[in-house]
Amino acid sequence: MSIQRVNSFRNGGKENVGLLGGKGGNLAEMTKVGLPVPLGFTITTEVCREFYRIGCRLPEGLMEEVLAALVELEKEQDREFGHAEHPLLVSVRSGAVTSMPGMMDTILNLGLNDETVEGLAKLTNHRRFAYDCYRRLIQMYGSVVYNIEGVHFERLIQQEKQLVGCLEDQQLSEESLISLVDQFKKLIETKTGRSFPQDVKQQLKGAIEAVFQSWSSPRAKVYRKVHLIPDDQGTAVNVQSMVFGNMGETSGTGVLFTRNPSTGEPVMFGEFLMNAQGEDVVGGTRTPCQIAELKETMPQAYEELSQCAKQLEMQYRDMQDIEFTIENGKLYLLQTRNAKRNAKAALKVATDLVEEGLISKEEALMRIDLQHLNHLLHRSIATDAEHTVMATGLPASPGAACGQVVFTADTADEWKKEGRQVVLVRMETTPEDIHGVIAAEGVITLRGGMTSHAAVIARGMGKPCVCGCETMQMDEEHKQLTGGGIIILEGDWVTIDGSTGQVIPGRLELQEADLPPELMMILSWADEVRTMKVLANADSPLDARKAREFGAEGIGLCRTEHMFLSPARVPIVQQMIMAETESDRQVALNRLLPMQRSDFEDIFREMDGHPVTIRLLDPPLHEFLPNMEELTERLAALPSQGEGAAAERLKLEQMIRRVRDLHESNPMLGQRGCRLGIMFPEIYEMQVEAIFQAVLRCLWDGVIVLPQVMIPLVGHVNELHLLRCMVDQVAEQVLGEEKRYCLYKVGTMIEVPRAALTAGEIARSADFFSFGTNDLTQMTFGYSRDDAEGKFLAHYIEHKLLPNNPFQVLDTEGVGKLIEMAITQGRARNPMLTTSICGEHGGDYESIMFCARIGLDYISCSPYRLPVSRIAAAQAQI
Ligand code: ADP
Ligand code: MG
Ligand code: MG
Repeated sequence: MSIQRVNSFRNGGKENVGLLGGKGGNLAEMTKVGLPVPLGFTITTEVCREFYRIGCRLPEGLMEEVLAALVELEKEQDREFGHAEHPLLVSVRSGAVTSMPGMMDTILNLGLNDETVEGLAKLTNHRRFAYDCYRRLIQMYGSVVYNIEGVHFERLIQQEKQLVGCLEDQQLSEESLISLVDQFKKLIETKTGRSFPQDVKQQLKGAIEAVFQSWSSPRAKVYRKVHLIPDDQGTAVNVQSMVFGNMGETSGTGVLFTRNPSTGEPVMFGEFLMNAQGEDVVGGTRTPCQIAELKETMPQAYEELSQCAKQLEMQYRDMQDIEFTIENGKLYLLQTRNAKRNAKAALKVATDLVEEGLISKEEALMRIDLQHLNHLLHRSIATDAEHTVMATGLPASPGAACGQVVFTADTADEWKKEGRQVVLVRMETTPEDIHGVIAAEGVITLRGGMTSHAAVIARGMGKPCVCGCETMQMDEEHKQLTGGGIIILEGDWVTIDGSTGQVIPGRLELQEADLPPELMMILSWADEVRTMKVLANADSPLDARKAREFGAEGIGLCRTEHMFLSPARVPIVQQMIMAETESDRQVALNRLLPMQRSDFEDIFREMDGHPVTIRLLDPPLHEFLPNMEELTERLAALPSQGEGAAAERLKLEQMIRRVRDLHESNPMLGQRGCRLGIMFPEIYEMQVEAIFQAVLRCLWDGVIVLPQVMIPLVGHVNELHLLRCMVDQVAEQVLGEEKRYCLYKVGTMIEVPRAALTAGEIARSADFFSFGTNDLTQMTFGYSRDDAEGKFLAHYIEHKLLPNNPFQVLDTEGVGKLIEMAITQGRARNPMLTTSICGEHGGDYESIMFCARIGLDYISCSPYRLPVSRIAAAQAQI
């Protein structure tokens, strides 16, 4: 039968969540498989959309259908809605398609009024209970339908308890509850000028409307924004016969996880309260009991509950989170859903379910939420010891970091350049602060939420960030930060935990991510499934080792400029650049050669037989030179006389001249990459010589090496051809006879659009293409990455001019098209061509999906992203 707009739980199932909402779909599912669920019906999400379409009214005829549907409930319970002697009570429960815990409203015990409450009292022979239900109804109705803040009701309860001298709600006497009913009614009258409706049909209508309204409450809207839930999804409304956990000491209510949600252990986990209703368990007024205790107090209900748990896990093939109520010893289930769990538990549950034969390895892989897994792969605070917390803000970007506090982006940038570790503290960040965020180990903001600029940027960069620390004060002028009675000055150390939102004074020890054994199992399954290889970007032997640990099948990108940038080498690099003659330059290069050689050698040894892709020097030379302003300042500060001064002056003047010579007005499009290699051939020759000398040493030791020399920024085949000949020549020279043992490759990074457009030509001289998607994106869009991110990209994304930041998520329509085209043309010309990407995108889920779809041979990403990328690559292929 198709789904009605007012649809009985006896019709439909979990496949209908789109119309029935999560709660409704699952209630129908449980009803279908014969689990003990109080009967009810669901008003669909379609009605909710209609409700909003026609101006927040219930559609014509809906209430008639609802009342007709109630008859089924009345028959089953042998009661009647609004009947003075045997009244039926119902709950009206919200239920969105995507669970939005605590965001929307539910009202229990509808159908009670001054008359029916007496009927219920007689019927159950329990007058206290009847009035407990009644006061709960008025309380919930008042806050949900009339928007009266809960504290007003709480205050009255508190007063009543003090008056009669009891501590807990369930100790309140019948008289007290009757009195509270009266006080609550008056509260509603004074607050709203309206009275609590005695007409039960009106109650029901008001409740249904209120639940639909709650879909557009501010908190629900915010929640949807953060969780990317579409606004037009709408909520369903479930109307269900009440069962009562507050009927005395053989009744109770609770929540149950079929396994432990923080460890994944296959042991039931949960809490319950005797003589309680609805949200009492989570309300925090009474301390709930552990589920194991139920085994003692009500063994039969416990047994039944664990049977239900097993059945539900079979039915859903996943760990469940269940709501249950026991009424006079009889168990009812009120809700089930796939349980939320932390990343560690998710791995354990997935692997256990495979072992238990409930799901396949592929399904287990598909269930790994990579964003979530990412948390597990971040640094954390090493000690369990208590530490002082200055403030707890929003956990905006996971991982722990520590550094010296700075209050401006410029200081962050400067200090970082001096080799210091900094944490940037801002009131809120703006796009102008981007360089500070880049320089910082982590970021704290005093204002702003999970989607604030700082949060978005930090998450994008995988940097720990705590946002909205509203309890702290910051004084930018005096450079101080206060919070929790602690004062922090610029330069003081602070530690932040972006996974919990804590800000801690001082420098705590951090620990690297710890990888549970289940992750290893999942990763090995991922490796079985995928055919696309996953390599790492690694620039040093240390990175290379990390990469191997994380399962890299080689190095897809080794940037040699990073080898030039170590403090010990910069002076030699400068000497090389300052050289005015080739022979002077050669002197410097001769000093650099052994350094590069030993780096390469160590990397080859680490990668033991896996390919190592080495990109020849890419950045513009002036990046290695001293800052022009600094030079002029130094020159100005020189004393006009003295022997040393003259020599120093000469040196400075020469430097200034050289810096000026090398100055480019647009260095990103200037003399960099292969252009540099062509203009200063001795630089690339030195690098290639170092590579093959390292190869030779490895060969002598019987280490297998697969070097791949990558020429950057090629735009025309002639550039590649020229440099390829150079590589072959040097290889010949260095390796000589041994050449036959070294299967090296020469290829290029495709990062200039022209290279992609002429890929067929370029493939003639290339053994491989590696798409440098950072530059390719930059040049295809014509966006300077450094400027775009801070200036207009955020605006573009916010106003939906672009779906995503193209530097994070590959633009498949434009840049992706170039890549696809280049692959097709390249392979047509050179069937042996291997293809890959090595930009930031190699670590991004959606981009990895695209790479798999278009059949790249491998992706390359940062070592820490490897586990995620390996699983993503497998997911892409399942
Ligand atoms: P939420 O979506 O916020 O969890 P629910 O609709 O699940 O809200 O209901 C809130 C509480 O009321 C839950 O503890 C639930 O078990 C309880 N409840 C809802 N309907 C009934 C009912 N018909 N009988 C007894 N308890 C109910
Ligand atoms: Mg619930
Ligand atoms: Mg590049």
